[in-house]
Amino acid sequence: MTPIAPRLTTGNIRMKHMIQLVMLACVALMAPGITSAQAKPAAAPAETAKIYERLLPQIDKIPIYDNHSHATFPDDSDMDAQAAPPDESSVMRLREDNPEFVAAAKSLFGYPYDDFSAEHAKWLIDKKKAAEASGNTVYWDSILDKLNIETCLANRVALASYLNPQRFHWVFFVDSFLFPFNNRDQAAKNGDLGVYIPLQEKVLQRYEKQEGLAALPGDLAGYESFVRQTVVDNQKKGGVAMKFEAAYFRSLYFSDPPREKAEAVFNKYHSSGIPTEDEYRTFQDYIFRVLIDQAGKSHLPVHFHSAVGIGDYFSLRNGNPLNLENVLRDPRYKNVIFVLIHGGYPYTLEMIWLTAAKNVYTDSSLMGYYVYPSELKNILKQWVSLYPEKIMFGSDAFPFNDAVGAEETFWLAVRSARTAIAEALAELVAENAISETKALQLAHMYLHDNAAKLYGEKK
Ligand SMILES: [Zn+2]
Repeated sequence: MTPIAPRLTTGNIRMKHMIQLVMLACVALMAPGITSAQAKPAAAPAETAKIYERLLPQIDKIPIYDNHSHATFPDDSDMDAQAAPPDESSVMRLREDNPEFVAAAKSLFGYPYDDFSAEHAKWLIDKKKAAEASGNTVYWDSILDKLNIETCLANRVALASYLNPQRFHWVFFVDSFLFPFNNRDQAAKNGDLGVYIPLQEKVLQRYEKQEGLAALPGDLAGYESFVRQTVVDNQKKGGVAMKFEAAYFRSLYFSDPPREKAEAVFNKYHSSGIPTEDEYRTFQDYIFRVLIDQAGKSHLPVHFHSAVGIGDYFSLRNGNPLNLENVLRDPRYKNVIFVLIHGGYPYTLEMIWLTAAKNVYTDSSLMGYYVYPSELKNILKQWVSLYPEKIMFGSDAFPFNDAVGAEETFWLAVRSARTAIAEALAELVAENAISETKALQLAHMYLHDNAAKLYGEKK
């Protein structure tokens, strides 16, 4: 016999409410401060300023784990799998006349001038050339030390001998596997792709050489094992994550075609001929899923460029991280860690909701130096209030020219992030949303702990 649950009558519902009210009143009496702990929509600026002054020196002491950088000397062609297209537009903060870059050079190197005129910049360029000529790892370790960066992921085609592998961990590129056929039509789409696509072909040839192949394998099974083995070998060489820059080439929406369709495209074009747009996309969508599957098997996090990008032809619609939702929320990939680089900027609110999935993370790289700290503060305040365990610092340190290098952009990104998170947290403390102790815990998570945990678990 099934026991019958007691029926809730109007009378005993009322009794239940009475008991709950009495219990709430008792809790309120035991904790007299409880009503004043409710968050307010704003706080007095003077109060926020005082909390900021207390938090910032403590936040400056937190060693950083940088989720995304291109630590490199400017003439090293391995710094990225692609290059800046000619005449690209640049945001105001990254233009050469930004006085913050002079402040960076002064802080890092004691730069004695107030501008980067050719004869003044030579002072800085000579210093960096001398460091490069020394060939050892001391220089880049010292840059990290000056900025209190403990560990740094380096997005590169290959690791450099001048980067200490104890502190710089390699993230390798995998987009080249999406371009094994004749790419004439792909490269002809616009001037940016005319620069990017030949570089992808070069990386693919490099991987073929690495794997001892003289040419593309003759069938799809062979190509798949080449793709999977390259990932395995790159991980053995020290790779801690694979990176897609796919948003520069195509939509981040990947369909799920059957293997036979991809096989038919491979058989038709692996030695000659030019695939149609649809055929190429079908093949890419299939190989993309082979890579994601391998990432899961190898316990290798998958990074995506997911924000605006350089070049005047970058498609905001194609790069919108919401395109990835069908992949991120696919139960087949629940064991794959996805790291959406650059915060999805300008879609930062969509991004933080994508990180609601347990295996999805994001970082503040790139946007952290595109916008000024006052705006970065707004984004971080929203993020830290929603999923604080899913957000990470990233510098996207990158050399802009021979004088303003990755060193200065490391500085700019680090100073911006430390001050922005300090202000975001100070506001939350002043608004009674969180305590100062909690604020410092959240700062540790963003600047260091979330990334250390994510990559530490993979070892
Ligand atoms: Zn980058």
